[in-house]
Amino acid sequence: MMTCRDLAEKLGAWKAGELPLQARALLSLHAAWCPCCRALMATYDTTLTLSAELADQRVPDEVAAAFDTMIDRAMDG
Ligand SMILES: [Zn+2]
Repeated sequence: MMTCRDLAEKLGAWKAGELPLQARALLSLHAAWCPCCRALMATYDTTLTLSAELADQRVPDEVAAAFDTMIDRAMDG
C-alpha cells in the first residue's frame, strides 16, 4: 500500500525518471486521490524550477521539509 511517506521518498526518483513503470503507476494512483501529495508535487516542481535557476541540483531536503510540515498540520487538525 502506497503511503504519503512512500511518495515523498520516491518523488525525486520519480521526477528523474528512475522508477519502473509499476512504481510510477502506484504513485500516480495515490496522487490522484491524495490532495496532500498533489500539493507536495506542486511544491516540488516549484522548488525544482527555482533551484534550477541557481544550480543543476536535486532538492530533496527542501521537499522533505515541506512535506513534513504538511503532515504535521494535517495531524494537528
Ligand atoms: Zn499522499
